[in-house]
Amino acid sequence: MTARFDLGVKPYLGFTDSVLDRAAELRHDPAGMAAMAADPRARTFLIAGELVCLHKGEPFNDPAFTFAQAAALVSGPDRLHEQVFLGRNGEAPLFAVAIDPETAKRLRDQSALLVTDLRSLATGSLVEREHLPSLAEAKSLLGWHMRHRFCSNCGAPTRPAQAGWRRDCAACGAEHFPRTDPVVIMLAINGEQCLLGRQARFARGMWSCLAGFVEPGETIEDAVRRETLEEVGIVCGRVSYFASQPWPFPMSLMIGCHAEALTTELKVDHSELEDARWFARDEVAAMMLRRHPDGLTATHPFAIAHHIIRAWLEAEQGLF
Ligand SMILES: [Zn+2]
Repeated sequence: MTARFDLGVKPYLGFTDSVLDRAAELRHDPAGMAAMAADPRARTFLIAGELVCLHKGEPFNDPAFTFAQAAALVSGPDRLHEQVFLGRNGEAPLFAVAIDPETAKRLRDQSALLVTDLRSLATGSLVEREHLPSLAEAKSLLGWHMRHRFCSNCGAPTRPAQAGWRRDCAACGAEHFPRTDPVVIMLAINGEQCLLGRQARFARGMWSCLAGFVEPGETIEDAVRRETLEEVGIVCGRVSYFASQPWPFPMSLMIGCHAEALTTELKVDHSELEDARWFARDEVAAMMLRRHPDGLTATHPFAIAHHIIRAWLEAEQGLF
């Protein structure tokens, strides 16, 4: 039996617990979609790449606009681009519309509006939590539209279909669907120690799990073992799934795992990582509680890495 650490109330895992009913069965009906957009309860997000527009408010800013407000804000040389149907919040239809980054920057000058990036909204608690999953959905989907204006089969321009959940090519008939890129993110464990790494771009003193894209033809388990071997030279055996998190930068799904490390000698790939090392459980607990004597910390509670590490610390017995 290993000691259990009391890390307090479990924090919110960012972009999860969506309250929306995606109502995919309604996407094929353009007339029904237009009627929903005309519903007085309908709201839309305004998104320009990384940037989200919000009504300023206290304590939270509000990202939901009526279509009349959107049309009034974005007029003249500015344009509303792709409109996507995100789903229904109760009876209220929720959409998102893409605008140009230049338009978003102009809207920044309006004193009643806040224009900022989704990462800041999420980590700074600038919006009510219930908006975060749908903002992630909107940003990923609109980002896909921005990057898929032409058919990858024949090169002709494509057009949005299915309320924004498909792009069709009139030239060759190909139908293109929004992508989600799977990423494995894992904590390698060897007895009473775990392996954390840091990238040069991380905040000073912050350590996290290793991560990498799943490659074509690969299982999640194989991706965990391959990435761990490539990045730090550690051989892993058993892999167990923990939880997943939408990560709309630009359109990933983080697949959180624990992995049983079979070796301990590190060979760090410094083109991927600034550093990596083994950490004892009590040291990691101090990092999670922000009580480490050298000021070291673990990832922000909003990110799944924090939860993967926490699950290991809180396990009554070893995970492997
Ligand atoms: Zn085509």
